[in-house]
Amino acid sequence: MPKPKLGKSKDGRDMHYSVGALIKKDNKFLLIDRKKPPLGFACLAGHVDENETPEKTLIREVEEESGLKVTNYKLIFEEELSWNWCNFGIQTHYWYVFECEFSGNIVKDEVESKSIGWYTQEEIKKLKLEPSWEYWFKKLKII
Ligand SMILES: [Zn+2]
Repeated sequence: MPKPKLGKSKDGRDMHYSVGALIKKDNKFLLIDRKKPPLGFACLAGHVDENETPEKTLIREVEEESGLKVTNYKLIFEEELSWNWCNFGIQTHYWYVFECEFSGNIVKDEVESKSIGWYTQEEIKKLKLEPSWEYWFKKLKII
């Protein structure tokens, strides 16, 4: 298993790097109900591994978690979140959030998700979101 790339936060703590994929179709967003902590509904996301660029992580994670192929992407947010614990016990994550275009059909990832599906803005407002995605959706004024 590759290890997440380790860095130092602004306040000198160990930090991971994360990539998130905002995927939209017909005014709906692709979300999974996470099986692993932090729980909640979230867009596709994952750690940047050692020797990996955020763009490579994006393409890998989207394919692993949804079966879709990223055909185009645009970086929309880049920010250090200091309250974003992962199951490795690391609190700070430096995020790269991309908006993506895709091709292919959805294949559910049994390891990462209880479910995967498309949700409207109104539906997202009612979901229990994973904390970092609650933050990104607020920032995007979707919730
Ligand atoms: Zn982490």
